[in-house]
Amino acid sequence: MINREKVEMEGFTGRCLCRAITYKSHTAPLKTFNCHCEDCRRCSGAPHLTNIHVKEADLSIKGALKSYIHQSESGNKITKKFYKHCGCQMFSFNEGKPGLVRVRAGTVNELDIVKPQVDVWVSKKIPSIKIDEILDQFQKNFI
Ligand SMILES: [Zn+2]
Ligand SMILES: [Zn+2]
Repeated sequence: MINREKVEMEGFTGRCLCRAITYKSHTAPLKTFNCHCEDCRRCSGAPHLTNIHVKEADLSIKGALKSYIHQSESGNKITKKFYKHCGCQMFSFNEGKPGLVRVRAGTVNELDIVKPQVDVWVSKKIPSIKIDEILDQFQKNFI
């Protein structure tokens, strides 16, 4: 297999609920983690969010997203990106991790690439939510 094909296969794509926004990551996930923090719960409406880290430079986004900017518990400025029409939240950027984007795993097309490795902010978890004992757990963030 030539290198170019390998890169193509290791990337992934995704879209918002109404299909107006699409994206392609040209690389495989750098890290995939389940986040149980309150911000992730409230912004998504889900019991926790699964996020995929990729380099911002490796991600192509088609379409214009709105931003919501807020401060995280650790004091960093977080920019969350969503589509105004369908309300789908797709990405976030943390000023404390420049050059990285968090892709919301629920928007990914290739479901097989979503493989969480760690659970973070377990201290804020909804008590009834079960987490996979095999995965690493962090009471707060993993760095
Ligand atoms: Zn949409
Ligand atoms: Zn979180």
